[in-house]
Amino acid sequence: MTALHSDLLEGQHALVTGGGRGIGAAIADALAARGASLTVLGRTAATLEAKQADLAGRFGIAAGTVAADATDEAAVEEAFAQAVAERGPISILVNNAGRGDSAPFKRTTTEFFMRMVEINLLSTFLCIRQVLPGMTEAGYGRIVNIASTAGLVGYRYVSAYVASKHGVVGLTRSLALETARTGITVNAVCPGYVETDMTADTIANIVEKTGMDANAARAQLAQSNPQRRLIDPAEVASAVIWLARPGSGSITGQSIPVAGGEVM
Ligand code: NAP
Repeated sequence: MTALHSDLLEGQHALVTGGGRGIGAAIADALAARGASLTVLGRTAATLEAKQADLAGRFGIAAGTVAADATDEAAVEEAFAQAVAERGPISILVNNAGRGDSAPFKRTTTEFFMRMVEINLLSTFLCIRQVLPGMTEAGYGRIVNIASTAGLVGYRYVSAYVASKHGVVGLTRSLALETARTGITVNAVCPGYVETDMTADTIANIVEKTGMDANAARAQLAQSNPQRRLIDPAEVASAVIWLARPGSGSITGQSIPVAGGEVM
């Protein structure tokens, strides 16, 4: 099997933002399972340390951790410098850190709107900026942005989130064209509702706002997926791995829904 057809990522340094829990943690697992050298970035040192111990226990790897707020330009710069100093140039960047707060448009304040843009879109921009020169110099790179189905279609009561995720898809498309002849690919993965803390928060919010039972709220979310279920974080990770493979070099500028057919 040649490297082109392999999904082994040995010798590659992958950095996952928000890799301590949820979808990012599943992506970190999938990268570790394929032999990548890993750095996990997030704000909470305790979460990062727990993930580092988990990866050591299950995959026998010593992952690096960097505690940083992905919306803080100086902190991001410092975190990436540390990651590169510890593990070498980054060839795979997964921009996964994000959050999805909801509010009807009439209650969406400027501060709320900017919070969504900063964590979902600005963080993606800041992290890409840190890896692009190194990837360009190496003539190789894989950038995968975790957007959402909300990057492809609109939903009620989440206009700020939807706008920020559409921004991630737009950034992905433009950068894919700009990097098309450099060996770098830039793609987005667009999940529907995934089994994570973020979805648990959405369920709690529905319960609070409507008085609906938690199981009913959960079933309502599952209804949006034609497969009538929530998505396993490992299924999102599987799409990321496919895009990160050396053999996926001609796939760029794409936004791949992982949503049971909800968006097509
Ligand atoms: P989650 O369980 O809430 O985890 C979010 C992760 O992002 C955590 O590791 C968190 O770590 C990190 N994070 C949040 N704010 C950060 C910041 N300012 N700087 C650095 N790290 C930060 O969320 P998830 O469900 O796994 O979602 C991951 C991504 O998938 C997000 O971009 C989300 O929009 C997208 N997505 C999720 C769903 C879903 O249904 N869950 C659907 C579509 C798309 P700390 O709190 O320690 O910083």
